[in-house]
Amino acid sequence: MGNYFQPEIETMQRDDIKKHQLDKLRWQVKRVYENVPMYKERMDDAGVKPKDIKSLSDISKLPFTTKQDLRDYYPFQLLAVHKRDIVRIHASSGTTGKQVVAGYTRKDLEMWSDAFARMLVATGGDTKSIVQVAYGYGLFTGGLGAHQGAERLGAMVVPISSGNTERQIRFMCDLGSTHLCCTPSYAMYLGETVKEMGVKNQLKLKAGIFGAEPWTEEMRKKIEEALGIKAYDIYGLTEIMGPGVAYECEYQNGMHICEDMVIAEIIDPDTGETLPEGSFGELVLTTIAKEGQPMMRYRTRDLCQLNYEPCACGRTHVRMMKPAGRTDDMLIIRGVNVFPSQIEEVLLRNSIEVSPNYQIVVDRVNNTDTFDINVELSPRFTGDVEAEKHKLQVQLRSALGIGAKVHLLRPKSIERSEGKAKRVIDNRNLRD
Ligand code: ADP
Ligand code: ZN
Repeated sequence: MGNYFQPEIETMQRDDIKKHQLDKLRWQVKRVYENVPMYKERMDDAGVKPKDIKSLSDISKLPFTTKQDLRDYYPFQLLAVHKRDIVRIHASSGTTGKQVVAGYTRKDLEMWSDAFARMLVATGGDTKSIVQVAYGYGLFTGGLGAHQGAERLGAMVVPISSGNTERQIRFMCDLGSTHLCCTPSYAMYLGETVKEMGVKNQLKLKAGIFGAEPWTEEMRKKIEEALGIKAYDIYGLTEIMGPGVAYECEYQNGMHICEDMVIAEIIDPDTGETLPEGSFGELVLTTIAKEGQPMMRYRTRDLCQLNYEPCACGRTHVRMMKPAGRTDDMLIIRGVNVFPSQIEEVLLRNSIEVSPNYQIVVDRVNNTDTFDINVELSPRFTGDVEAEKHKLQVQLRSALGIGAKVHLLRPKSIERSEGKAKRVIDNRNLRD
């Protein structure tokens, strides 16, 4: 049994969760039907009225919401409250196209702060913790999301934002920061710099809270070793709330989804059909407590699996397994599906020779896709470059089912990211 921030919620019995979810769902459906024209229109088209939601499974009668809807109804047409009740705006980082915005009421911000505070407590945080927030501040939900969660807990916040890496590390040492919040790719970069500065023994860090982009178990080990911490995964998205939608507990076997705030479903991304418990598919989330900009059956495009088994930590909220990637991250190269995370796994298996800093370049020449992977050699590398290249190419072909051309570059030649890493350069669209 662990420490909880809100034990009465985090350890609620499943029957009580279900009852709570149904009450809140019915409340939310009625609100969006009455206040958001898009939802009324879609529900009318589907022939479903708020009173038709009698059980939790009736959620599947509701139409989906997509990122495109947020673009089409940009910026305020999906609000379920008057604009004057919105106290803050955030926007997605725009990884996959035009930004979308989300409006929050005061209550929405409080709820989100609770979610992040739950995470901090799960990672051993308390009022004595010193939380260094190295997520970017601004429209991105990472910075302010972590900030308000740490304040809600009563910890000491260091709102340093991302970037200025050496100063970041000096502060970390001087202030004795115990928790670090940033993207996993920035954590890697911080780890590298800590090593260069030779200050690992001056760090007081205990835990890192890393999310906003996919990362692998191998990367977790690397970061933990470089910073001398336990690294936790956190999941979130602007459309739903921000970081804290789901978070890892000390057992680190999936992220507990805040089920008092959202209902999670898994669907088949091709047919939209709801899949049975335990299936792998696209995560769909419905915000049942959010006032400002509620999302009904929002298609996250993140591919994962839900686990309803009881967790050793005592939390009862369902766990989502690490997203395997998002449907729109997936590259189709010469007809084969490729996820960047598969490449990262291969590189991390060879971490003595190469660093996991890489970039995928895809192009089309004479109607055939070209597939190049730029990889940095590790500073410790002393072997034969051609042989190393050959070895990686063989391993990549077996992991991906398709051949790629590997280019080994000098250490530090690929630009480091202070936020989400940009791993893919796809030039094919430019030529279509
Ligand atoms: P954008 O879609 O522009 O990147 P956000 O900044 O809101 O917008 O990012 C949300 C997305 O980031 C999620 O849908 C998911 O794909 C990814 N993400 C967030 N946290 C994690 C995580 N812990 N593991 C894997 N992917 C994550
Ligand atoms: Zn747990």
